[in-house]
Amino acid sequence: LIAAPALASTATSFPTTHDKITEVQDTPYFIDNKFLSSSTTDFIDLHDPATNNLVTRVPKNTTEELQAAVASAQRAFEPWRQTSVLHRQAIMFKFVALIRENWDRLAASITLEQGKTFADAKGDVLRGLQVAEAACAAPELLKGEVLEVAKDMETRTYREPLGVVAAICPFNFPAMIPLWCIPIATVTGNTLILKPSERDPGAAMILAELAQKAGFPEGVVNVVHGAHEAVNFILDEPAIKAISFVGSNKAGEYIFTRGSANGKRVQANLGAKNHAAVLPDCNKNQFINAVVGAAFGAAGQRCMALSTLVMVGETKNWLPDIAERAKSLSVNGGFEAGADLGPVITPQSKARIESLIASAEAEGATILLDGRGYKPEKYPNGNWIAPTIITGVTPEMQCYKEEIFGPVLVCLSVDTLDEAIDLINANEYGNGVAIFTRSGPTAETFRRRIEAGQVGINVPIPVPLPMFSFTGNKKSIAGGGASTFYGRPGVNFYTQLKTVTALWTSADAIGKKADVHMPTHS
Ligand code: NAD
Repeated sequence: LIAAPALASTATSFPTTHDKITEVQDTPYFIDNKFLSSSTTDFIDLHDPATNNLVTRVPKNTTEELQAAVASAQRAFEPWRQTSVLHRQAIMFKFVALIRENWDRLAASITLEQGKTFADAKGDVLRGLQVAEAACAAPELLKGEVLEVAKDMETRTYREPLGVVAAICPFNFPAMIPLWCIPIATVTGNTLILKPSERDPGAAMILAELAQKAGFPEGVVNVVHGAHEAVNFILDEPAIKAISFVGSNKAGEYIFTRGSANGKRVQANLGAKNHAAVLPDCNKNQFINAVVGAAFGAAGQRCMALSTLVMVGETKNWLPDIAERAKSLSVNGGFEAGADLGPVITPQSKARIESLIASAEAEGATILLDGRGYKPEKYPNGNWIAPTIITGVTPEMQCYKEEIFGPVLVCLSVDTLDEAIDLINANEYGNGVAIFTRSGPTAETFRRRIEAGQVGINVPIPVPLPMFSFTGNKKSIAGGGASTFYGRPGVNFYTQLKTVTALWTSADAIGKKADVHMPTHS
């Protein structure tokens, strides 16, 4: 194993601009609490989305390196599971404190590699940090149950860790999604192999460093890199007992199927097409701010981005106001003061989004606000698309059927609440949805009938806080939503129940003949 030289991810200073990096360093991987340089010759170039300057080269770890990560996690498992839950809780408290201390540094890494604005990147870290904070309640969350079945018999349940588990993460939340996994997987006594997105692993590397500083023993948290081959290795490695995946349907459905066929537990959060239904009785100004923020924030690259607007009745007349507010957003490098949204992740992603906008035009929709061709003066080479609004959209159009994952709002109009509900329910995705109304009964009807798994009532991005769970539905989650991230279901995913039934009969109750009937304990 080759120790990595002084690395950006371990430095105390961090970037605050999109300036070209003069000495580009390769991203290390992390095993046994050590940053290591990969011996591979196969690297993925990572470019700053605002400039397309090279930031780092991400290795595709070799099979031997991936095997070393598994061996490390296997060695660490038994001693780690033997530690007291209070010990693990104390490490989690330290981890939480270190994330807070390194909040700006984590956010800066995200802005540089992923492109979102620094303020938004701080939110990315915070939503993950909140999961780590909730994981500090492990002694409570890991409690089992006891029932005194009879005077001499009791049944108890224990929650036991699974062993080595793995997490495969997407590019759009480089801190939050690793933090959906690291805290809960480890505090419950498992050891973890994390594969961040090859497009922005910097935040995960900082989290690895903080995990080591917090006192996680060697091998409890490991980070490896790569793309499909690394994922296939994880899917087929028998020592890995469970996989947490967040990302696209294409990758996730494959991962769920192959991982499950190999006997692993798999939880997989997938793509989305989140609708907002707006009713004429809503608070118009609050709604416009909410929909513009949630459609275009993070350049639309959130799985809960509010990308589809269903305008009920006369609200279709509000489109010029929505377009006006969208136009006022500042599209710029994420480190620039006042930037509201940054670039999209890659030139390929920009081209894909632009082709979806073009397809809408070709299919007869209207481009009310066209963000194609926009470039901030200081960053002419970035992957820019300014807020775009497409109106007159119908469910048959490609821009409606596909997840655009860019700063594009598609708008449909209907006459009634019932029509809005039917339209939204006919969509195959079911991640999030929002309704804007001042009417309690309207909101209640919507809440009952809507099929999406996360509902906002006058709340544009209803991502549940970590004492709840992330409950997407339909095509937005694999396996029918049987296993969801964080909250109690997250603890359940990373633990196996063991149920013990004990009988303490008094001496004179010992009979002379074996009872061959099925015991009923009644
Ligand atoms: P992605 O599926 O391209 O990549 C996710 C991970 O899977 C990466 O680590 C990548 O290396 C790996 N991967 C990609 N293609 C693969 C393949 N064919 N075989 C094996 N592994 C593969 O997703 P992305 O572009 O990084 O993220 C955006 C997507 O994630 C969007 O669809 C978004 O809606 C979704 N997402 C969903 C949630 C949620 O909770 N539902 C949250 C965030 C993002």
